[in-house]
Amino acid sequence: HIRENRPVIRQLDEGAINRIAAGEVVERPASAVKELVENALDAGARRIEICFADGGKTLVRVTDDGCGIAPDDLPLALARHATSKIDGSDLLNIHTFGFRGEALPSLGAVGRLTIASRVPEFEATEISVNGGQVTAPKPTALNGGTIVTLRDLFFATPARLKFMRTDRAEAQAITDTVKRLAMAEPFVGFTLRDVSGGGEGRVTFRADAETGDLFDALHGRLARILGAEFAENALRIDASREGLHMTGYAALPTYSRGSAVAQYLFVNGRPVRDKMLYGALRAAYHDFLNRDRHPAAALFINCDPTLVDVNVHPAKSEVRFRDPGLARGLIVSGLRHALAEAGHRASTTVAG
Ligand code: ADP
Ligand code: MG
Repeated sequence: HIRENRPVIRQLDEGAINRIAAGEVVERPASAVKELVENALDAGARRIEICFADGGKTLVRVTDDGCGIAPDDLPLALARHATSKIDGSDLLNIHTFGFRGEALPSLGAVGRLTIASRVPEFEATEISVNGGQVTAPKPTALNGGTIVTLRDLFFATPARLKFMRTDRAEAQAITDTVKRLAMAEPFVGFTLRDVSGGGEGRVTFRADAETGDLFDALHGRLARILGAEFAENALRIDASREGLHMTGYAALPTYSRGSAVAQYLFVNGRPVRDKMLYGALRAAYHDFLNRDRHPAAALFINCDPTLVDVNVHPAKSEVRFRDPGLARGLIVSGLRHALAEAGHRASTTVAG
């Protein structure tokens, strides 16, 4: 009788595996937007347009002018663990946003995904996958770049559907995601359009490609996203320590906030929400701010990819530095130095 009840081990099919992976990679429409925009950036896009309808639940579409996907590669783009970005030999040396080869198969497993793409040498081609069912590639009309359309996210996983919030809340999360990504890419133009109800829709965020040197471009982009007042009160940050570099803008203590809403941290171009880094930011302002005030800053930590592991979290918003103390020290000392200098400048100006 033991035999009848004994569980048997079976290999899950590809569809089930992809739906499970989707649970980690795609939490809500904004995570789909993040994956698709990161793919466009990895493809070298200079202009990216994001459309969504009904908070992204019924439609997310990302159009880019990047390098495109060759027709023969389209089925591979939908295959699990297939990527053009790494060869697997050096997981500590990653220079792109993507590397897992999971986003597109995951999205195709839980929604209806169509990829239309064109590389100069071939005709434009499109491929679709609906809840894991892939259709054969066919010709389409497109001048260049890639258009990825995701409809009916989570239609194939009804339990997940229930976890989505209101259209308004999901739209807000999409906007936040796009703004965060746009901060780190000032030379790329972004347009976000709400096309709920059809037609041309309504542009809800737009940032044209900035020009000038990196600091000029970043300053312009931050003014666009965080507002002119932040930009006017922002100190240029440029500090280095043993192979770690920090650039960006941090606001004067007088432009502090009542909550930590205006803190944007990036590691090698990726938006991260990392406790250790937030803690370092708070520590840097400790002597300059009251306890109930929070600094505003957009800081970009850059280093050799081998000095930081971005492989910690499936959604890739946590990072692990090889030497966390070094990262913390750079942030604290770099910011304190800039704040002290600004204070010194202010007091000497007043003194005459
Ligand atoms: P990853 O980004 O981790 O490689 P994805 O599933 O997101 O995995 O994408 C799979 C592959 O499809 C990528 O490695 C890339 O070659 C190709 N691809 C996806 N989106 C684009 C795009 N917008 N432009 C060009 N190539 C793309
Ligand atoms: Mg990707």
